[in-house]
Amino acid sequence: MARYTGPVCRLCRRERTKLYLKGERCFTMKCPVAENSDRQMRAFPPGMHGRDRQRQGSEYLTQLREKQKARRIYGLLEKQFRNLYEEASRRPGMTGTNLLQFLELRLDNIAYRAGWGASRAQARQFVRHGHVTIDGKRVNIPSYRVRPGEVIALKNVTRENFNVKRNLDVLDRSVPGWLETGDGGFSVTVRIVPQREQIDESIKEQLIVELYSK
Ligand code: SF4
Repeated sequence: MARYTGPVCRLCRRERTKLYLKGERCFTMKCPVAENSDRQMRAFPPGMHGRDRQRQGSEYLTQLREKQKARRIYGLLEKQFRNLYEEASRRPGMTGTNLLQFLELRLDNIAYRAGWGASRAQARQFVRHGHVTIDGKRVNIPSYRVRPGEVIALKNVTRENFNVKRNLDVLDRSVPGWLETGDGGFSVTVRIVPQREQIDESIKEQLIVELYSK
């Protein structure tokens, strides 16, 4: 499946907020969007006219930016995101919440939430390269939707991987309450479908619904 392979800091600069796409670097002063960053001179939208461009406060622009932000946080292309939205809108319940739940239950996101990858992109690579199993079977599809009760684990050989160990030790991210860790952090079980309040991304999903339902 295709994915965005261009520079990622410019995505944060476009959204004027930290999207945490680069792992450890996002927590350093090198982040151009960070307050007091030593690269604050780049804290403006990318592009030739980024410095001069004044935001027009239209409703459409607000909705579009929110959708782009969510899409970029989870690393999806427009078509994948739109398809997920369509599916969410067909499900009972609130479309925005359904959408966020689908995003959270992606296998690459769970590998990230478990703390194995420093970023969702790195977690996705672990999945693509066959380092992750579900109930003992290798699954290398990042978009696989994990179901409650399934056990996601890293393969034994990968548990010795320098990057994985470092991410678990250094990044010290807490695992959300809808996941249960085991094997010293090398496996997680999905306890329940995450509720909206358990999803800590600052996304206003209602704006995305308004945009797509026009
Ligand atoms: Fe975004 Fe991280 Fe780059 Fe900062 S360092 S702009 S948070 S990707």
